[in-house]
Amino acid sequence: MTELNRRHILAGGAVAVAGAAAFGDSAEAKVGATPIFPVAQTTIPVVGLKEVFPVRRIYCIGRNYAAHAIERGSDPTREPPFFFQKPTDAIQVVAIGTVADHPYPTLTKNYHHEVELVAALKSGGKNIPADKALDHVYGYALGLDMTRRDLQNAMGAAKKPWEIGKSFDHSAVLGPIHPATKTGHFTKGAISLAVNGTVRQNSDLTKMIWSVAEQISKLSEAFELKAGDIIYSGTPENVGPVVKGDILLCKLEGLPDMSIKIV
Ligand code: MN
Repeated sequence: MTELNRRHILAGGAVAVAGAAAFGDSAEAKVGATPIFPVAQTTIPVVGLKEVFPVRRIYCIGRNYAAHAIERGSDPTREPPFFFQKPTDAIQVVAIGTVADHPYPTLTKNYHHEVELVAALKSGGKNIPADKALDHVYGYALGLDMTRRDLQNAMGAAKKPWEIGKSFDHSAVLGPIHPATKTGHFTKGAISLAVNGTVRQNSDLTKMIWSVAEQISKLSEAFELKAGDIIYSGTPENVGPVVKGDILLCKLEGLPDMSIKIV
């Protein structure tokens, strides 16, 4: 089977389910229906595997380090976790040992870096207890939640959704996924980001207000989580702007570095 044919068939399955929901038809009746055009499935490489991780949804947690919550104007001691999503095809994968060109996006004059641990789920559910949550994690990656801060702030001030500041092309940068069977689960460890060799963000995963397990538990109260979901777990303090030509170097203790150049 050619790669294109296989994608076609996989996409057909997704169309069949959507069609069944829209028209009250049975999903079975439309399995194998051919989509009118192919739509690519977003995937992330997995270290040590030839198979790839298929992405279903991208969740992000806001203000999950106390010092970052304070710099964004909220009280870290009282605010429950909150979430937003990015579109699946916002992903930009950065191969280990490379410096990927990352396009400076349109409409912004204040483009910010947010270095984050990313958890990738192999299974999910509703109302997952925190003490069972890590059983659903397939692996981890090092990521950047790139943000058009001026647009996010303007929309927030107008009490409108700040989607345009967060959910745009290439805004979900990350390295390949490392299976938790190899790395263990990330509950502590230094996380940092440098721009042109100067460290800007420098913290530790122990400073998260809500752990990855707690994030999964809380998320699953609002959404049914499923295999293929990934979660950006929040950024430490000292987010800041980048401009064209800047080289960003992200580090997380236990994973390879990840680097991009703003172009
Ligand atoms: Mn973030």
